[in-house]
Amino acid sequence: MTVARILAVKGRDVFTTQPHRTLQETARLLHDKGVGALVVTGADGAVLGIISERDLVRALAERGAVALDDAVSRHMTSDVFTTTSGVCIIDIMERMTQSRFRHVPVVEDGRLAGLVSIGDVVKHRIAEIETEHRALRDYIATA
Ligand code: AMP
Repeated sequence: MTVARILAVKGRDVFTTQPHRTLQETARLLHDKGVGALVVTGADGAVLGIISERDLVRALAERGAVALDDAVSRHMTSDVFTTTSGVCIIDIMERMTQSRFRHVPVVEDGRLAGLVSIGDVVKHRIAEIETEHRALRDYIATA
């Protein structure tokens, strides 16, 4: 199963922010949208970074409440691992586990085209395993 399959089910909308926005605005958006990370984009739709709830917690722990007025650019991760639609979900799972992050933006033609979270990956992988399991049981029952 590929990234394209996940996006076909969940859609391609991604909640984004910009580098000059504040952490206060980031916290509000994460809360309002019920998500764990925002992709930081430029005017041309290019991925400039990612900021997740972990970055917010780290900023608050290190700098206290003044961090809420800091710009997103100060606390985001700039070296973002991205993927494309044709990549296999198992490869994304492996990378998420190795690098300990839960969000992977999907980029097509240099622009943000979706986002895959650990929740999406686990959900689809379980469905895939259940389908294989059922097929094997049916095969054994009829053999
Ligand atoms: P997460 O587990 O996604 O909340 O993120 C944990 C840490 O990894 C945070 O510092 C994020 O900024 C960073 N991070 C999240 N997603 C990615 C990604 N796709 N590439 C690189 N860093 C990431």
